[in-house]
Amino acid sequence: MKAVIDHCRQIASYSEVSGQITRTFLSPPMRQVHEYLGAWMRRLGMATRVDHAGNLRGTYGEGKNALIIGSHLDTVPNAGAFDGVLGVVMAIQSVELLAGERLPCQIEVIGFSEEEGVRFGVPFIGSRALIGDNTLLSRPDIAEAIHAYGVGPVEAPKPYAGYLEFHIEQGPVLESLNLPLAIVDAIAGQSRMDITFTGQANHAGTTPMALRRDALAGAAEWILAVEAAGLADGVATVGHLALEPNARNAINGRVVASLDVRHAADATRKATVDCLLVSATKIAQKRGLKVTTQVNLDQPAVPMHMGLTQQLSEAAGPRAHRMTSGAGHDAMILAPHIPSAMLFLRSPGGISHHPDETVLVGDVAAALEVGMRFLRDFHV
Ligand SMILES: [Zn+2]
Repeated sequence: MKAVIDHCRQIASYSEVSGQITRTFLSPPMRQVHEYLGAWMRRLGMATRVDHAGNLRGTYGEGKNALIIGSHLDTVPNAGAFDGVLGVVMAIQSVELLAGERLPCQIEVIGFSEEEGVRFGVPFIGSRALIGDNTLLSRPDIAEAIHAYGVGPVEAPKPYAGYLEFHIEQGPVLESLNLPLAIVDAIAGQSRMDITFTGQANHAGTTPMALRRDALAGAAEWILAVEAAGLADGVATVGHLALEPNARNAINGRVVASLDVRHAADATRKATVDCLLVSATKIAQKRGLKVTTQVNLDQPAVPMHMGLTQQLSEAAGPRAHRMTSGAGHDAMILAPHIPSAMLFLRSPGGISHHPDETVLVGDVAAALEVGMRFLRDFHV
């Protein structure tokens, strides 16, 4: 299914930065994407509109129940051509493959306006609006962007029978298993914290080793405990360090280390975090340091809908892997309100949020096949 890849590559040319793929919430190139995909949907006989949050929506067929297929149309800066967009293009391609065949339910294709949180620092503006959470839309800067773009009237949330999202895996798991597709069981919960180790900054030449209170050495010991915890279960990462004084000839007196722990089971995630905090305290005591913590995010895991996931699994057959998504997706916002299921496509090289991001034609064909089976058998 090279057509899908060609559409994604064409959309990649609608960018705020020439030579890169950068397309944020309701930026000028987003209008080109809306025109391009809108025209394609209308050629297929779909009715299209841009809703009050800037989501591109197209409906196909009629029916008491409606199934949404979608993903997001915005990108991170200097992105690849497939994160988000692929899910929308696959949705429209699925309608094209129906070639006029009517299903018992209506299909609504949605290209969400915002998922990455780049332009205004808050993610999921589009999907939150779909479930009736319009709080972000009234933020003055966001409201101004919406007004400047020109969108449709406010729509009340309506009940849907389901939500299906195709998305690239954005990781190396499927490639390592040599499999094209995975069904997502849950989107991992996340704990994000800052852990501050405080010791005593001092001269690197004159302070004997035994008389130091080196905050960075303490943090380093703890970072290995974080790695070990992640290896044992889930993933755990220290991705950022702020050092004071951060000088080549000084002992660091203060280190703020970020902590990011993700797991599909909230109890396990919390137990891991608790264990890591105990470990930080023990290391600090041993080294004469003080440790304080600040919680920045405690987001529960979001399970996908069991029934819909079962339908997707039957459509995919035994070849599809089952996995937790470590990254957030629009499905995470919709799942508590609309039965949701997600299908991952292998990310060659495990690469995403990077210009080298790609998909394999054969994997796209396999995913479309699964999607078509799912659509024809879809039942509430
Ligand atoms: Zn995405």
